[in-house]
Amino acid sequence: MTQHEAKQVWAEPYKIKMVELLKMTTRDEREQAIRQAGYNTFLLKSQDVYIDLLTDSGVGAMSDRQWAGLMMGDESYAGSSNFYHLRDTVEKYYSYKYTVPTHQGRGAENILSQILVKPGDFVPGNMYFTTTRLHQELAGGTFVDIIIDEAHDPASTHPFKGNVDLDKLDELVKRVGSEKIPYICVATCVNMAGGQPISMANMKALRKWCDQHAILIIHDMTRVAENAYFIQQREQGYGDMPIADIVYELCSLTDGATMSSKKDAMVNIGGFLAMNDKKFYEDACNLVVVYEGLHTYGGMAGRDMEALSIGIAESVCDNHIKARVGQVEYLGNALKDRGVSIVQPIGGHAVFLDAKAILPHIRQDQFPAQALAAALYVDAGVRVMERGAVSAGRNKQTGKNYRPKLELVRLTLPRRVYTQAHMDVVVESVCRVIANADSIKGLRFTYEPEYLRFFRGRFEQVDD
Ligand SMILES: *Cc1c(COP(=O)(O)O)cnc(C)c1O
Repeated sequence: MTQHEAKQVWAEPYKIKMVELLKMTTRDEREQAIRQAGYNTFLLKSQDVYIDLLTDSGVGAMSDRQWAGLMMGDESYAGSSNFYHLRDTVEKYYSYKYTVPTHQGRGAENILSQILVKPGDFVPGNMYFTTTRLHQELAGGTFVDIIIDEAHDPASTHPFKGNVDLDKLDELVKRVGSEKIPYICVATCVNMAGGQPISMANMKALRKWCDQHAILIIHDMTRVAENAYFIQQREQGYGDMPIADIVYELCSLTDGATMSSKKDAMVNIGGFLAMNDKKFYEDACNLVVVYEGLHTYGGMAGRDMEALSIGIAESVCDNHIKARVGQVEYLGNALKDRGVSIVQPIGGHAVFLDAKAILPHIRQDQFPAQALAAALYVDAGVRVMERGAVSAGRNKQTGKNYRPKLELVRLTLPRRVYTQAHMDVVVESVCRVIANADSIKGLRFTYEPEYLRFFRGRFEQVDD
């Protein structure tokens, strides 16, 4: 190892070729902007944001090769060569034989849920994801959380907090019967748990369990490469295995997958449903023409399928993923070193602040994480998002607010976009806001949308 590798283990394996200039705002302007946005960072204009850590979805920087790929778009209505390239790329890196392109991940979730979920079914998952659960519910299913308990404890340092608890699955089968469980939805690097990985050993055990019960495994593979990195770093026997091989092995333990290519694969839009079963593929082709487009483009332009194929190959390179997760760890460790309460271990795509611990004076029904996200924007123009009671929504039977154990603010890092100096700005801002935490007020809804309320909900400050 050279000296420079030893010092900067996560340094970027690329250089910057083009930049996007940003507008700098004043605190007064930001106070006005957040009020106008109803204290919801999703309703801010991006123009008014300095460092945008709202999401890692569709906001990565494409490589020069991906941009070149856009010029190779074959925009034929049927049988685009970019589709065949994508199909072959998915099989090569992810093992799945059949690929159905969709406009993004939720398009795949819609088709999957309509095919596999019947009214009265139960769909277990290693923690819910907002759009995934909603599509299961719209198809008449009920989501059941079967992640290990440690995932709900922000202080637990379990190395694989994304693991499935097989005892919870046994209990569910006893309660409802395996015929009511069409598949288990397994996410790699569980977004809602803080970007926490599942171990290969757990995935193998789950495969065995599912074979015994004749239940499918559907892989929410949005962040599979980041998961593979943690397996390489933490799991016995994988230290010398290339990321690409670990990704392939993970995928091959599952029966099919939904993919939002806006994450790992570094394109601005796109996704797919993939599987190995011919009949499942036929069913998906039948539905994709209703909701997305012909089965050889789904919801995507030819050029976007080309950029996606190139992005998939780049996403499983060891150098890329080391720098990607390394930057997230740099931010997380800098915050931890300054005594900030964050979810541990640090996840693959984001650092999560524990809003319950930071704002103990705000009750959960006054949305401390939402309030903290708004305060962070006002301080330095850093945009983050809530992952707590607002995101969790309401129980569809009782109408009551879910009360998730985790009340978090997510600082999500776009791939290949920001520099270490940007990270330092974020750290300083978080520390300043926490030093003045007493002055932050709780919030109440002034407008609550029926579905996925965190996207468009509006709030006002509570004075008491
Ligand atoms: C983003 C995401 C989805 C949905 O994908 P979209 O492309 O946003 O529709 C599903 N599951 C997980 C874990 C995600 O992070």
